[in-house]
Amino acid sequence: MSAKPCRGCGKMVVFAKDPDGKWQVLDNTAPVWKQIGMKEGVARVVREPSAMVSHFSTCPNANDFHKKPEPAAPPADRHFSEPAEAP
Ligand SMILES: [Zn+2]
Repeated sequence: MSAKPCRGCGKMVVFAKDPDGKWQVLDNTAPVWKQIGMKEGVARVVREPSAMVSHFSTCPNANDFHKKPEPAAPPADRHFSEPAEAP
C-alpha cells in the first residue's frame, strides 16, 4: 500500500484498485466504525482499522477534481470571414 500526497490538499492518500479495476483514492486515516450489533436500542460499534474512506468525501478541495476539462473551443463562427492576417 503506497501513500502519496493528494494533489488537492496535500494529505497522504492511498491509491488502490477496486474489484472493477477502477482506481480509488482513499483516506486511510478517517475513522471508520462497523456496527456489530444492537443493545437496548443502541448500536454497538467497533473501529474498523482496515477500512478506508474515499478521499473524495474527506478532501477539502474535492471540488477541484470534479472540474471537467475545458470544453473544446466552439467551432469558428462561419457567418463571418476570418480576419485577414497582418502582412
Ligand atoms: Zn485531498
